[in-house]
Amino acid sequence: MSLKLTILGCGSATPTIDRNPTAQVLQVLERFFLIDCGEGTQLQMRRNKIRPRHFDHIFISHLHGDHYLGLFGLLSSLHLYSRNKPMYVFCPPKLKEIIDLQLTASGTRLSYELHFHELVENGEQLIIETNEAAVYSFPMNHRIPCWGFKFVEKPRPKSMKGEKIREYNISFSKIDEIRNGNNFVNENGKIIPNDELTFPAKETRTYAFCSDTIYDESIIPYVKGVDLLYHEATFAHELLDKATNRYHTTALQAATFALKAEAKTLIIGHYSSRYGEVSALLNEARTVFENTIAASDNLVIEIS
Ligand SMILES: [Zn+2]
Ligand SMILES: [Zn+2]
Repeated sequence: MSLKLTILGCGSATPTIDRNPTAQVLQVLERFFLIDCGEGTQLQMRRNKIRPRHFDHIFISHLHGDHYLGLFGLLSSLHLYSRNKPMYVFCPPKLKEIIDLQLTASGTRLSYELHFHELVENGEQLIIETNEAAVYSFPMNHRIPCWGFKFVEKPRPKSMKGEKIREYNISFSKIDEIRNGNNFVNENGKIIPNDELTFPAKETRTYAFCSDTIYDESIIPYVKGVDLLYHEATFAHELLDKATNRYHTTALQAATFALKAEAKTLIIGHYSSRYGEVSALLNEARTVFENTIAASDNLVIEIS
């Protein structure tokens, strides 16, 4: 089973013909997580055949409009679809106030429970754990409080060796606990070690989302060794001063960050609208970190 990332929007600041503001969907097994919700997210979900009713968890990095202005529209649509299961939004303080005001002004009483969980700036925090993944928040370094998110897949059960089931006459009722790592004790009290009965567990996969931020190596420990790292690369390095003044990162810096974080794959995005196409940014990043992918709207990346 795959871990699949769909880029719904990878532009910064304002929408363009080719790029929507930030939004992504991460699918871990049957679980869907929405990361940021820029303007246009609903249409992009439709284009990518992703159904909003599949979501129970939304993560909002910060309160610049390019990361959350699609949220009220999405929440309103879920109400119009008569959603009846709760929705959980992990977000900066004040977003609840903003959404509550919009609901009050429009006289809307949602058909479902809406729960807000405020992010805190105190280092790495485990914010939600489902059967499929654990999600952590950590602080970025931006003009206003901003958070990154790390998704760590839960360990998956090991596979049994068929011939060992027959050899030791293992009953069906014992299989689940052996797949979860327990040894087997046969009727004579002999302990059969787990390693003999199972194939090694598959490695769990990790994804980290880092947008928006100035280049900051103090963030590296939170994302060390991830399989897939999304890092903003708003500008080319020739505009380093602009990037620094605006608390953004250049493509070269994003690649340096990925290299030092020992990420396996880097995706750059959150491009300034001045870049029609981004091959210069991609080439710049690849001079430092070869395994870089340039995000584009509707791009799907799978970690198998
Ligand atoms: Zn932004
Ligand atoms: Zn921002």
